[in-house]
Amino acid sequence: MFVDSTDLYVKAGDGGDGAVAFHREKYVAAGGPDGGDGGKGGDVILQPSDNLNTLSDLRFKHRFIAENGENGKGSKMFGKNGKNLVIKVPKGTVVKDKKTGLIIKDMSEDKPFIIAKGGKGGWGNRHFATPTRQAPRFAKPGMPGEEREITLELKMIADVGLIGFPNVGKSTLLSITSSAKPKIANYHFTTLSPSLGVVTVGEEQSFVMADIPGIIEGASNGQGLGHEFLRHVERCRLLLHIIDISGSEGRNPIEDYNTINKELVNFSEDLAKCPQIAVGNKADLIFDEEIADKFRKFMKENNVEYYEISAATNSGVQELLYKVYEKVSKLPPVKTYEPEYSEISEESGDVGDVNITIKDGVYIVEGQKLMRIMRGINFDDYESLQYFQKVLNLSGIIDKLRKAGIQEGDTVSIYDFEFDFVL
Ligand code: GDP
Ligand code: MG
Repeated sequence: MFVDSTDLYVKAGDGGDGAVAFHREKYVAAGGPDGGDGGKGGDVILQPSDNLNTLSDLRFKHRFIAENGENGKGSKMFGKNGKNLVIKVPKGTVVKDKKTGLIIKDMSEDKPFIIAKGGKGGWGNRHFATPTRQAPRFAKPGMPGEEREITLELKMIADVGLIGFPNVGKSTLLSITSSAKPKIANYHFTTLSPSLGVVTVGEEQSFVMADIPGIIEGASNGQGLGHEFLRHVERCRLLLHIIDISGSEGRNPIEDYNTINKELVNFSEDLAKCPQIAVGNKADLIFDEEIADKFRKFMKENNVEYYEISAATNSGVQELLYKVYEKVSKLPPVKTYEPEYSEISEESGDVGDVNITIKDGVYIVEGQKLMRIMRGINFDDYESLQYFQKVLNLSGIIDKLRKAGIQEGDTVSIYDFEFDFVL
C-alpha cells in the first residue's frame, strides 16, 4: 500500500533530575554537596532521505518517544543524556501541525530537523552551595521534553510531473528516459507508489521527472478521480500530460484530456495554472486515424503545445526531452513551503484541556497535560518560572480564570503551586 500522508505523535525525552547528595568518605565528617546534574532528554529528529519515496514505513508506527535523560547521581556523576530518536522521511515531506494544519517545516533539503526538543537536565545540588548555604538539600528537576502531534504529507520534489489516465504510458516514458524502474503493466491500476528519475538530455543538462500514481484510480467505479495523488505534482514546475491517442482501448483522447484538466482545476487552481505540455503517446499503435487526427486538430485549435511520441519505439522521445528541458530551464525553481507556524505558541501554549473549579474561594486549575508540565517546573528557578508564566499566558488559562470570575487577590491553585492572582 502506498502511504503519502500520516499522523504522528512525537515526544522528546524529559530531562533527568539533578541529584541531592553529599560527599561521603571515611574519616571525613560532613562532605560537601556533590549531587550531579540530570542528563538532557533525547530529541526527536526528522531526517530527509533520498532513498524513500513513500511514507509507508510509518504506516504501523505512530508514536515516537525519545529516551529520557537519566537522573544525576552522587559523587558529581552526571545522568546520561537520552538518545535522540531519528525518523527517516522521504525528501519533500511537508510537516504540519495536526490540529491547525499549519506548516511547521518543508523537508525538501538534506538537513535534519528537530521536531521535538529534549528537556534540559536539572542541576544537582552541588551547584547551589553558597557560603551561607553549605548543604543545599534541593536540586532542580529536569524540564519536560516537547511533545507534538504532527501530520506528514509527502509532496515530492520534481521538476516535471507526469499526469494522465492510467495505462497511457507514463511509467514507460519514465523508465526509458531515466534509470528509474517504475512498474509497468497493462492494466488500469498500475503505479501504486510514485517514482522519481533523473532525465539527462546532455552534459550537465538534466531534470527530475516524477511518475505519480494514476490519478483516476477508482474513477471507473464512480469514486471520482484519486485526488489524493495530485499533491505530488503540486510542486512540479511543468506537467507533462500524457494522452493515449491510439484509440486501442476505445478511449476518446479529447475526453481524456479534458477530464484530467478538469480534475486539476478541482484540486487546485494553482496546479491548473502550472505550465503543461501535452504528449500524445502510443503513436505506433494508432487504430483509428480519424480519432488521432481529431485530437491533433483539437490541440491546434486550442493552442496547446503538443508533441507525439511512442514510448514503445522511442520515436519522438528525444525531441520531446529537449523541448521539456528548454522549457523547464526557463521556469521558476521548485516551490518550497514557508513555515506558517509560530514555534512559541505551540511549544508552551498547548496545555491540553484544563478544568477550573472554585472551592472555598480558591480557583483550582487541573488538566492532564498541565499536570505533566507542572511537574517539570521548578519554582525556585527563574528560567523555569518564566516558562511557567509563558504557559499561563499563551494557553489561555489566565483568560479562563477571568471568565470564571476571578478577582485581584484571589488564590489560584495549580497542583502543588499556589499564587495570588494579580491583574
Ligand atoms: P501508466 O499507467 O500510464 O504508467 O502506463 P504504463 O507505462 O504502465 O503502460 C501501460 C501499457 O501500455 C504497458 O503495457 C506498456 O507497455 C504500454 N505502452 C506504453 N507506451 C506505449 C507505446 O508508446 N506504444 C505501445 N504500443 N504501448 C505502449
Ligand atoms: Mg504507471
